[in-house]
Amino acid sequence: MPTINSVGGPLDTEQLGFTLMHEHILVTSPGVRQNFPVWDRAAEVERSIEKLKQAIARGVRTLVDLTPTDWRDIDFVKEAVAGSGMQVIVATGIYWEVPHYFRAQSGRSIDHIAELFIGDIRDGIMDSGVRVGIIKCATDEPGVTDDVERILRACAKAHRATGVPISTHTHAASQVGLKQQDVFEGEGVDLGRVIIGHSGDSEDLDYLRKLMDRGSCIGMDRFGLDLFLPTDKRVATIATLCEMGYAEKMVLSHDAACYFDWAESALIQALAPKWNFNFIPDEVIPALRQAGVSDDHLRAMTVNNPRRIFERQGRY
Ligand SMILES: [Zn+2]
Repeated sequence: MPTINSVGGPLDTEQLGFTLMHEHILVTSPGVRQNFPVWDRAAEVERSIEKLKQAIARGVRTLVDLTPTDWRDIDFVKEAVAGSGMQVIVATGIYWEVPHYFRAQSGRSIDHIAELFIGDIRDGIMDSGVRVGIIKCATDEPGVTDDVERILRACAKAHRATGVPISTHTHAASQVGLKQQDVFEGEGVDLGRVIIGHSGDSEDLDYLRKLMDRGSCIGMDRFGLDLFLPTDKRVATIATLCEMGYAEKMVLSHDAACYFDWAESALIQALAPKWNFNFIPDEVIPALRQAGVSDDHLRAMTVNNPRRIFERQGRY
């Protein structure tokens, strides 16, 4: 039975079950939280455990935490996992706002960056004992800038050296997923081992089909963020693509977090009241069913596709 790296140790892929493929435990700026009294860490661990338990109660077995290393706090994640029982897979990689350390002007090579990512996967994150199971990279509205391209190439190298899948952040409106695929192809990556994330922010069927026709899965992974695209449009897009035969190429998620410091909780609640791990089991799945998506297709997007992605293993 194939196993993958999870926070709790090696995990049999048959144990994955219902998997949310793009979420976060913690999205914060380490410099801020380490230097100012801006949060109550112990209370947030408890709240995170509660949120994970609520998702477990709805049948979610595994959560893929695609937090890039520049925001990561693996000790916090370990505590949330230990307290909740959620199976969590964590990522290595860097966000599109590339820290100075990794930029071209640093004089550091792409191979050096790839080696850091490979170390996370092969040896674990520092002395945490946690090995990484997925590689995250990101491209937003500014596109594949020189510094972003360095990170994409480093991720591609780390992927080929370890066999661990790649999952991305995109700005779907500017169709940067295709540009990410170009860079990966240039590095010899099998696009079937890549998930192009935040594709669910788009209802442009031509764009979405192009991504999948090149072999990648797409992340329909921002349910609850109606400010990017309302839920009914996200649901209709998925239903149409299922009808067209693409159910094996989509995965579902919210891109939500247990704790997110980019805005006051009251503001988040006002802007995106349903942006949490429960929305897909509680409302999106019934809505997809209502829109004509079969139980087989629902199972593909929530269970079988994640499992298949993680079972494509081996360096090449
Ligand atoms: Zn995310």
